[in-house]
Amino acid sequence: MRPATQAVHVGRPPHEPDQPLNTPITMASTYVAGGDLEYGRYANPTWDAFEQALGTLEGGRCLAFSSGLAAVATILDLVGQGQKVVAPRHSYTGTVMQLNDLELRERVAPVLVDMTDLDAVVAACDDASLVWLESPSNPAMEVVDVEAITKAAHAAGAYVVVDNTFATPVLQRPLEWGVDLVVHSATKYLSGHSDVLMGAVVTRDEELLRVLKGRRDLLGAIPGTFEAWLALRGLRTLHLRVEKAQANAQELVRRLGERTDLTEVRYPGFGGMVSIVLPTGDHADLVQHSTRLWVYATSLGGVESTLERRRRWQAEAPTIPDGLLRLSVGIEDVEDLWDDLSQALDVAGR
Ligand SMILES: *Cc1c(COP(=O)(O)O)cnc(C)c1O
Repeated sequence: MRPATQAVHVGRPPHEPDQPLNTPITMASTYVAGGDLEYGRYANPTWDAFEQALGTLEGGRCLAFSSGLAAVATILDLVGQGQKVVAPRHSYTGTVMQLNDLELRERVAPVLVDMTDLDAVVAACDDASLVWLESPSNPAMEVVDVEAITKAAHAAGAYVVVDNTFATPVLQRPLEWGVDLVVHSATKYLSGHSDVLMGAVVTRDEELLRVLKGRRDLLGAIPGTFEAWLALRGLRTLHLRVEKAQANAQELVRRLGERTDLTEVRYPGFGGMVSIVLPTGDHADLVQHSTRLWVYATSLGGVESTLERRRRWQAEAPTIPDGLLRLSVGIEDVEDLWDDLSQALDVAGR
């Protein structure tokens, strides 16, 4: 099966008379003993269906978590006491905040680097236990050479993680580049409708899978069964949504490039995420408050277009421009998106 077919078909009950087409929501805290499931913190058939579908799309085996950050935290918990973690200077703020917190408690030793500077990354890999990558990166939209960094990290004996939330397996499958773990905020594109919080980890390494499953069992960072069902329902249309969001983003980027009031348009060439830089934070604030269709909101990857000035968050990296607006382009008609965005930019330019 090709990916678009996998997204629709993997994780369904068998084609037998009276079977439902969709895996039902299993509300169960416990199961009759003697089988494989036993207790609701260890296993759930609805998680299973989601894990099969996403695992197949990424080309590995998947574990679902209660949120993207629960998945991030569970991976970081595998790092030995005081060991080095190489991470991007620009990445999702929650990941940076977790690393800061772990550093304050002397749990791990994070080293933040510019991931586009391959020499600096290779040098930083020395003695590292884990190399964390995000590509494209939030909200700088940097694309990193995952394959080259993975080679250097493995030569240094470090594991490599890629946060694949922005690209999704439709556009990029990092396990094929040799990385050890892929992490997702399934809250974003995978679910796609801004109504679920969920996370996931995918790996080809059976030992890592076993250890992470054990950690999930003990930490209890498990998704709800309804969330897993909704996320799987979202996954069924992932291809269509990503393709449409990307087509809209590419057209908007072309038109934004013709405007003279923007300092910068940052777009990696693929996907539905775009960052634009206005001359000041005040300009960016005016734009985010002047749209009528685009929703001023954090998060991303929903069917609806959203935008926000990232530096409104204290935890955002100071190297991110004050006037940077991150756009999550949805699947609406691009003419409506353009009409609204350009009138809001005009308001800020007045
Ligand atoms: C949102 C996000 C996360 C965190 O996921 P939650 O589901 O909000 O916990 C991690 N990484 C990236 C890139 C994200 O956008």
